[in-house]
Amino acid sequence: MDYAVARRRMVESQIIRRSITDQSVIDALLKTPRHLFVDEGLRPHAYSDASLPIGEKQTISQPYMVAAMTAALGLEGGERILEIGTGSGYQTAVLSHLVSRVYTIERIATLAGRARRVFDQLSLTNVNLKVGDGTVGWKDQAPFDGIIVTAGAPEIPTEFLDQLDVGAPLVVPVGPLDQQILLRLVRTEDGRFSREELMDCRFVPLIGETGWMDNGC
Ligand code: SAM
Repeated sequence: MDYAVARRRMVESQIIRRSITDQSVIDALLKTPRHLFVDEGLRPHAYSDASLPIGEKQTISQPYMVAAMTAALGLEGGERILEIGTGSGYQTAVLSHLVSRVYTIERIATLAGRARRVFDQLSLTNVNLKVGDGTVGWKDQAPFDGIIVTAGAPEIPTEFLDQLDVGAPLVVPVGPLDQQILLRLVRTEDGRFSREELMDCRFVPLIGETGWMDNGC
């Protein structure tokens, strides 16, 4: 299978046709070999219009969702971004082509280990990955120029809002377990937050210390 051809088709039919036109996001998707982030048996499906299992009951997100969330960060280059939920590492890798540094947290060590190996294979040198509970963010590296959460939270997580710089967005799926709304919140000069609803979505749950994240606001 020619993965480069499959990747280009994916970008044309799933991303550009659905009106994502940010050229830097498109270029980052073209540069990122999604097939390396799934098990060998799933590689023929790596460029399909779907999320796929990555083990541990977790998923690699649908390419369109990765593109839409990345575009929602409104990146210009040079940012420091926090990602909660490394999973396969695919979203992290896409971000790594667009920003100066990605901080990413994964609670499942086996997934984090696998992602780290792919980052090494791709020589991604601007990623800091840690294993742990991402619901507390990454305080000693805050504030961030953007935060992206790739698991669904029942409420808007206050910890993440506290770790945003002025003008920086938080992109997060919020809502019940079976259906969330992708939100974009931006910290304004006066310390408030603008709020925009982007689309319906369905993510695996964001798990806090005591289960499905329960320290929202
Ligand atoms: N962005 C990923 C990708 O491209 O493969 C998809 C991530 S998957 C939909 C969500 C991930 O969030 C899972 O790997 C899950 O283990 C992780 N997760 C859930 N709760 C978490 C938490 N509190 N801290 C860190 N990671 C968490």
